[in-house]
Amino acid sequence: MDMFKPSALALMRAKRPNFGQIEEYCRSPKSFLKYLDTCGIDRAVLINYVAPEVIGFTNGVNQFVADYVKEDPRRLIPCGSLHPRYSSNILADVEQLLRLRIAMIKIHPPHQLLFPNDYLNGVTELEIIYRAAEANGIPVMIHTGTSVFPGARNKYGDPVYVDDVAVDFPKLKILLAHGGRPLWMRTAFFLVRRHPNVFLDISGIPPKRLLQYFPRLEEIATKTLFGTDWPGPGVPDVKKNLDDFRALPLKPVVQDQIVSRTARHIWPA
Ligand SMILES: [Zn+2]
Repeated sequence: MDMFKPSALALMRAKRPNFGQIEEYCRSPKSFLKYLDTCGIDRAVLINYVAPEVIGFTNGVNQFVADYVKEDPRRLIPCGSLHPRYSSNILADVEQLLRLRIAMIKIHPPHQLLFPNDYLNGVTELEIIYRAAEANGIPVMIHTGTSVFPGARNKYGDPVYVDDVAVDFPKLKILLAHGGRPLWMRTAFFLVRRHPNVFLDISGIPPKRLLQYFPRLEEIATKTLFGTDWPGPGVPDVKKNLDDFRALPLKPVVQDQIVSRTARHIWPA
């Protein structure tokens, strides 16, 4: 919480009367686990990333999340991150992620102000990150779609640049966060169908609009996983999000796949 830039924190607080609760969950994994119980959620991936310019998050997020999940390493899955321009020794930083047992790496192009394929333009740190993740079986989640945070640059949110990553790192599991919403869903759908190593994360998409965005969702259900993006702006509550998803006219076997099976394939319990 204390890393947030004031402008980013203001957006997080906006229209959220119970922000104190979220601050409490950040302090206490115990109370967060209780919240998950009330929502009927067994396991959660805790998304963190390094984005000093736009959000304020530094490399310190990795130690934070590694400490946080110690409360219950089965239920809490640590997602960390690195930033090519904010690493003085990329190999040492990658080593640290491995030592902390970070279970997913998030790349956030609109907040890190880079293209996910910038290793083709001389950003070798990015290639080192992808290679390490690929070699160690750590999935990489890449934010796709727009962001409304002050200073975010949305040209970086187009998922088409992930095509190179999927081609160049064929054993790397790549999760397309938010399915390119709301501008690039067709690109996201194409990438998931084209590449065996690309998955769709539906977090941040209002569940009520999911089937408008992805009318052929059932075809890619085995590569689709549920998430909420809570407590991001526009996602007030985890339980409500799950209930809205459960209310969609999808076969029970498809629902089960998206809510549970795909994630259990990626992070076996
Ligand atoms: Zn994201």
